[in-house]
Amino acid sequence: MFTTPFEKIITRAWGKPGSHSLETYQAAGGYQALEKALEMAPAQVIDEVKKSNLRGRGGAGFPTGMKWSFVPKDNPKPKYLCVNGDESEPGTFKDRYILEHDPHMMLEGIAITCYALDAHVCYVYLRGEFKHQAERTQAAIDEAYKAGIFGKKVLGRDFSLDCYLVRGAGAYICGEETALLESVEGKKGWPRLKPPFPAVVGLFGAPTVVNNVETLASVPHIFQRGAGWYAGLGTDKSGGTRLVCLSGTVKKPGVYEVPLNLTVKDLIFKPEYGNGLPAGRKVKAVIPGGSSAPVLTADELDVALEFEALKTKQTMAGSGGVVVMDESACMVRCLWRVARFYAEESCGQCTPCREGTPWQTRLLRKIEEGRGTHEDLETLVHVASSIAPYPPIGLGNTICALGDAAALPTHSFFQKFKDEFIAHVEQKKCPLGDKPWGAFQDAYNKGLPQ
Ligand code: SF4
Repeated sequence: MFTTPFEKIITRAWGKPGSHSLETYQAAGGYQALEKALEMAPAQVIDEVKKSNLRGRGGAGFPTGMKWSFVPKDNPKPKYLCVNGDESEPGTFKDRYILEHDPHMMLEGIAITCYALDAHVCYVYLRGEFKHQAERTQAAIDEAYKAGIFGKKVLGRDFSLDCYLVRGAGAYICGEETALLESVEGKKGWPRLKPPFPAVVGLFGAPTVVNNVETLASVPHIFQRGAGWYAGLGTDKSGGTRLVCLSGTVKKPGVYEVPLNLTVKDLIFKPEYGNGLPAGRKVKAVIPGGSSAPVLTADELDVALEFEALKTKQTMAGSGGVVVMDESACMVRCLWRVARFYAEESCGQCTPCREGTPWQTRLLRKIEEGRGTHEDLETLVHVASSIAPYPPIGLGNTICALGDAAALPTHSFFQKFKDEFIAHVEQKKCPLGDKPWGAFQDAYNKGLPQ
């Protein structure tokens, strides 16, 4: 593959004046893809998306066309589309820019998707903290209604579509698709046991597809330029471009649209992307796909930022959050920070996650502060294994993937930086000179798991 020359498609209008408006979007050919899709039969639309090799950009990387095809045609219940805009994974901050700079690209993707699914209602679920992005999205939805894109007759055709914005209340777990459905239904965001999967029993018990913001923003390009063109931008199994969020110790952090054969190393060092580390710093570790993705060492960076390639390193492309840590970073402290996040966000439904995530956090604090023992190191691995085994194959000791997300970093940090963990125990302090957390952070910590 890679038969189509790389060009920016999702970010093409970012930074241009009025990029979020309908007028600007239509002037650049916006909503022509919807016109084309509406001329096709819904099944043909699904086939085109399958041919494009588009994979979900929210974390799991599941083939989008296949996901759509799981919705039963003969189910008499209404079908729904829910947009997952609850972007909260530490290190991930791309969807918010789509909503801010080019919300109509996602809305056009919504209209095409709903037509393909025979869904007449879409809920756009946004993270509660996204106030500005929610305002932009609502303004774009209002524009789309006024222009006859949404409403009783989509672009004059015999197809109706209503689109509603729903704002979350700040829970990371509501980014899990079944918790999101519970939240849209007005309930506490608790993940559901699967099966049944949402494609069969989803929102209000009816067939539902949940797609991420970037995934839906990719859909119009498939119809505007052709499925073959889109597939040619990527690998045999994964079409298009992708957004990555680069943060940590690099000179130029930010959101970049990249080809799928770009390596982690090139993302960090090429001048058009991260432009390397500040003078005197060296890479120690990189999280390649949001905080739940197993960490890579400095020797493992010659790997493409692509779903299958990262799997060969026993990690994942995840949500596109690439976090660079240099040699001054303490791996125990970094892991402790990640572990605290998941302990705080666990919904508490299942025992391994509810009990295991704060247990990991307490052990890591003890080790970081020089109070840990060799037995604590063994217990740490045992606790993580009780939540999810490593390598990340056949996961599933918990109802949802938050448990896996909390355990995989522990396994990978410990395996790859074991000497550093042992040094904390044997030297009875952080060998990198970090102060005990409690010495200066107690006030900040109030209410957070320790
Ligand atoms: Fe809740 Fe954790 Fe179980 Fe997911 S894994 S359902 S977050 S307790």
